[in-house]
Amino acid sequence: MGSMEENQAPSDSYSAGCDVIESNWDEVVETFDDMNLREALLRGIYAYGFEKPSLIQQRAIVPCIKGLDVIAQAQSGTGKTATFSIAILQKLDVALKECQALVLAPTRELAQQIQKVVLALGDYMEAHCHACIGGTNVRDDRVRLSQGVHTIVGTPGRVHDMINRGYLKTNYIKLFVLDEADEMLSRGFKDQIYNVFRCMPENIQVLLLSATMPKDVFDVTTRFMRDPVKILVKKEELTLEGIKQFYIQVEREEWKLDTLSDLYETLTITQAVIFCNTRRKVDWLTDKMLERDFTVSAMHGDMDQKERDVIMKEFRTGSSRVLITTDLLARGIDVQQVSLVINYDLPTNRENYIHRIGRGGRFGRKGVAINFITQDDIRTLQDIEQFYNTVVDEMPMNVADLI
Ligand code: ADP
Repeated sequence: MGSMEENQAPSDSYSAGCDVIESNWDEVVETFDDMNLREALLRGIYAYGFEKPSLIQQRAIVPCIKGLDVIAQAQSGTGKTATFSIAILQKLDVALKECQALVLAPTRELAQQIQKVVLALGDYMEAHCHACIGGTNVRDDRVRLSQGVHTIVGTPGRVHDMINRGYLKTNYIKLFVLDEADEMLSRGFKDQIYNVFRCMPENIQVLLLSATMPKDVFDVTTRFMRDPVKILVKKEELTLEGIKQFYIQVEREEWKLDTLSDLYETLTITQAVIFCNTRRKVDWLTDKMLERDFTVSAMHGDMDQKERDVIMKEFRTGSSRVLITTDLLARGIDVQQVSLVINYDLPTNRENYIHRIGRGGRFGRKGVAINFITQDDIRTLQDIEQFYNTVVDEMPMNVADLI
């Protein structure tokens, strides 16, 4: 049997059930080129290595630039930082050596990280950005601020202090950004945030970014946002649509290995992921395939993160073409470019079936899934077909033509 880690949903579903916003903005801009950004900013974005805006960026950058109050909710790691950084940089008047945008973040590290992103994206604009964080010399902050800084990123306490001392002038600030709003408001920063907010000019534009949106956080936003645009990017739902699903009946478990060997050439036409139900089975199958001189790589939860990263990288870049793994990989990690999935073992629960072979429907990606079925698995497969209202056919001879 697989371990807990492999059979349970990981904590990435943490936000389920506590989201209270629904999108009220459906405009999507699919390229940075179409966002009407200033030339120097566009250059900075491409030089930073971004090619295409992420889902949240496609939706949120434009309303932010338009001057609307925006609440943007998307999982962490989806590009929220760059969303508001790009909006800020687009809206700055670089010739005006005054603070025009203020970003509050919950930790010093995060504030510094954001500062780096703003500086990097604004590299061709000569946009100055300073991190105002606790634990550093107040005098340095004062000197830096007196030289004229366009954007301040800081933690609430230090920022409030700088305003109080009169080092940070707020009269030119037109954008107020709360990053990681759920974190900020749950960490008891609420009063400090209000204190800073009270110092902002009357017509301040407010952007709020968050991975989750519990009701109490949302309620707070109504106190300082005006009729905000709300953008929620949900986790992509998986579908079996467009996936051709087949089974190969093998009389005995031991024969799966020969079956897989026979298929090897087909596997390497593109790239394939082979799922087993346990780590031990992954190791066993990998050894057997290597013994037979097939090139395969393997990954599972017993490996440390560094090792996993290397293997994922090899696979993503295509230098390895066949990856044997457990359900660890099925969720969360993006292997959705893989067009062929083999269930060497049928998953022990239905949910893992769709996580292994399902695709984000929006992109309409096609794919082929092949299930190895012993006598014992027939019921399980029928159950899967019924549950997902889908059909799994016997594998045809010309499967290679379908990949
Ligand atoms: P969040 O703020 O939602 O946690 P980040 O803005 O930190 O996410 O982005 C996560 C990672 O993705 C960063 O390494 C960032 O550089 C990268 N990233 C963000 N937007 C893009 C994009 N459009 N193209 C490529 N990489 C991106």
